[in-house]
Amino acid sequence: MISFYPGPSRVHDALPQYVKDAAKEGIMSINHRSETFVAMSKKTIGLLKEKLNIPRNYTIFFTSSATECWEIIAQSLITDKSYHLYNGSFGQKWFDYTQRLHPGAMPIAFDTEEQLDPNKLILDQREGIICLTQNETSNGTQVDNRTIGAIKKNNPSYLVAVDATSSMAGIKLDFKSADIWFASVQKCFGLPAGLGILVCSPQAIDRAKAINERSHYNSLPFMIEMMDKWQTPFTPNVLGIYLLMRVLENCEKIATVHDETVKRYNQWKTFLSECKSVRHLVRNEAVQSYTVFPVFGDEAAVTKIKKAAKKNGFLLGEGYGTFKPQTFRIANFPAIKKSEIKSLMNFLQGY
Ligand SMILES: *Cc1c(COP(=O)(O)O)cnc(C)c1O
Repeated sequence: MISFYPGPSRVHDALPQYVKDAAKEGIMSINHRSETFVAMSKKTIGLLKEKLNIPRNYTIFFTSSATECWEIIAQSLITDKSYHLYNGSFGQKWFDYTQRLHPGAMPIAFDTEEQLDPNKLILDQREGIICLTQNETSNGTQVDNRTIGAIKKNNPSYLVAVDATSSMAGIKLDFKSADIWFASVQKCFGLPAGLGILVCSPQAIDRAKAINERSHYNSLPFMIEMMDKWQTPFTPNVLGIYLLMRVLENCEKIATVHDETVKRYNQWKTFLSECKSVRHLVRNEAVQSYTVFPVFGDEAAVTKIKKAAKKNGFLLGEGYGTFKPQTFRIANFPAIKKSEIKSLMNFLQGY
């Protein structure tokens, strides 16, 4: 079965070898306070900054998942008001979680076809946080770097927090244009689930220290103190960090990966435009995601494709929300091979 599921997704081919190496090197039972761990953690963070082009003065933390990052942000960086821009299920879920902790959370929903206009998003000049999902995995839309940067520029007293779970390590993200970025590794990183990455600007770190929330095991001030020593408050997914380090050691810089992702996106776009019974769910090309393709058609056609795909050894992503029976999703993540995309295109040709 070739997985085109947009997470958990296909892992890099070298993964089984890396797991064997981890066993041989004794990584599976190392202590998370040991020198070996500290060296590995430091190296992995260095590689993340180098390969993904993350500013040196940003702080990177290891968490368990992107969902945990939603919670860390809510508990440690929000005191009252937060604004949540969303057009799909993940962004809405982030808002829902936050609202349970802080009733002052404000939803700003927008349409799947709509390109956000930063000039309409100028908030009162207080301190707060603006949350947005860079790549909405549920409907295959994205917010571009320029828009994110303009939102921050128009609202400098606000922290801008960005869910990049299904795009980080797949496309270029302009980390310096926002304060908080996070992802989990089972999407574009091509790794097994169980590890999250949280990236914070100096302004976010200062805010966390000023708020000084210390009621949770993963309260940000604790995480900051531990990360000063390249460690985590809890025992982290040590094997996951090791695998991340190995994958990063062997991957291209993000500019190269990005070009390949966009090239494949364009191939998919052309291919889909020539299909008879299905099309891209989102018509506005300006907001189409580079890493997740939602494919839309009438229910009968889509049901038929889903069934036949399984039989032919392709795992497609399920649709989401209202259009679930009329959509399936195709991941365009770096670990997927050219030959696999070709096979899937061959299979879909007749539709
Ligand atoms: C997958 C996903 C999440 C949740 O990730 P977990 O690792 O399950 O916590 C959150 N946001 C987006 C945009 C996602 O694609």
